[in-house]
Amino acid sequence: MTVDALAGAAYIVAALLFILSLAGLSRHESARAGVIYGIAGMTIALVATIALTVAQAWGGAGSTTGLVLLGVAVLVGAAIGLWRARVVQMTGMPELIALLHSFVGLAAVLVGWNGHLAHPVLPAELVGIHNAEVFIGVFIGGVTFTGSIVAYLKLSAKISSRPLMLPGKNVLNVLALAAFLALTVWFVVDQQLWLLIAVTALSFALGWHLVASIGGGDMPVVVSMLNSYSGWAAAAAGFLLNNDLLIVTGALVGSSGAYLSYIMCKAMNRSFLSVIAGGFGIVASASSDEEYGEYREVTADAAAALLAEAKSVVITPGYGMAVAQAQYPVAELVSRLRDRGVEVRFGIHPVAGRLPGHMNVLLAEAKVPYDIVLGMDEINDDLASTSVVLVIGANDTVNPAAAEDPGSPIAGMPVLRVWEAENVIVFKRSMAAGYAGVQNPLFFRANAQMLFGDAKERVEDIIKAL
Ligand code: NDP
Repeated sequence: MTVDALAGAAYIVAALLFILSLAGLSRHESARAGVIYGIAGMTIALVATIALTVAQAWGGAGSTTGLVLLGVAVLVGAAIGLWRARVVQMTGMPELIALLHSFVGLAAVLVGWNGHLAHPVLPAELVGIHNAEVFIGVFIGGVTFTGSIVAYLKLSAKISSRPLMLPGKNVLNVLALAAFLALTVWFVVDQQLWLLIAVTALSFALGWHLVASIGGGDMPVVVSMLNSYSGWAAAAAGFLLNNDLLIVTGALVGSSGAYLSYIMCKAMNRSFLSVIAGGFGIVASASSDEEYGEYREVTADAAAALLAEAKSVVITPGYGMAVAQAQYPVAELVSRLRDRGVEVRFGIHPVAGRLPGHMNVLLAEAKVPYDIVLGMDEINDDLASTSVVLVIGANDTVNPAAAEDPGSPIAGMPVLRVWEAENVIVFKRSMAAGYAGVQNPLFFRANAQMLFGDAKERVEDIIKAL
């Protein structure tokens, strides 16, 4: 059997393992097995690819250059990947993922360019198809590349997360798509280099604009959508490189990412089309320098007294709990209160934190019993009969403007209705806005009090006072 045939078989096994991996990851009981299938599939794919390159280099068809390049790339890539994965904070995961997507996009652009500049002589009837593959691959890759960079910059707060509102932005997006279609037809008929340069520039600009136009509150959907785009970019590269595994894997990532984006849009009451089209149809809201009134401050001692008297307590954590690493003292506070006979539960918003499931992972890490950790829909109706809600480092996910102000940038997004409770204590360091950049009227409600400072320190103060 030739190495080619063996590698082909290995690719099929790897593809099956990737499918099993996705299936495993869809439930948390089987997630660990899913990760192992994924690692096994990737190892097989890498070994098969290296074996193919070695065979080509020794068989004389290629040169040893390919082998050396492959070795260097694998070593450098693996070293950087290991280092980043070890040092990244949980709160930094989404921006790391966004950055990794940008690499997939850039790789697809480079493969496309290489496919144009250095392809073997093709039979006349295949030239058109090849040109279309090059063009589409470069376009999807380019959009993914710059879109992911903007997502990275927004998520890591290196640029503002507010949506960019260019005049006529929807028309610009539609024109860019029309230009892409026209250029593709032109390139299929007549493969001129300037057309490839033009589509590369166009895709870079469109990717940048699409993601820049999306507001902070919709970023979770954007990250999963870029994940999907990176899959399609990989599949496009697979067609050009004639690599079945890339096509299958790319299609898996592309379709599962698209489906995840769709589920997230439904959960957040957003229009899927509007988000993938770069906030299509979203109009700029009047910048609000609205007067909210006065807010009240509370001390840790007074908060402890309130908690000691409470019958029921609900804790709604958010990104700030992750930043402060407050989950351990929070778990301790919970067990103290439960020992005193107070009913304590958690209410978890689907996009609390910076990645789906962020809060659940932190609470599990601190060994909070799983049966008191409820989802937003499970807890929302009970909030009105709750004595005290502790909002620990959450902001957008408890913002009443989403439910009450149709002009708000997060209007329509489902939120935890914490303001219905008897008392609300908000843990944060200042009056600053949350990730979506909108002020939160909750802080100014009569039943709300602010407990300023680092969430971890303040929770520890409350434990001491108790
Ligand atoms: P937000 O980002 O809305 O608010 C976090 C709050 O935590 C801020 O108000 C901040 O206020 C406070 N905070 C920060 N550090 C500390 C600290 N050390 N101690 C105490 N408080 C602190 O978080 P939410 O979890 O409520 O909402 C998540 C937001 O992120 C949503 O807009 C969501 O769409 C978006 N998002 C979610 C993703 C996901 O997949 N889940 C991915 C990307 C974005 P202050 O600075 O005053 O302390």
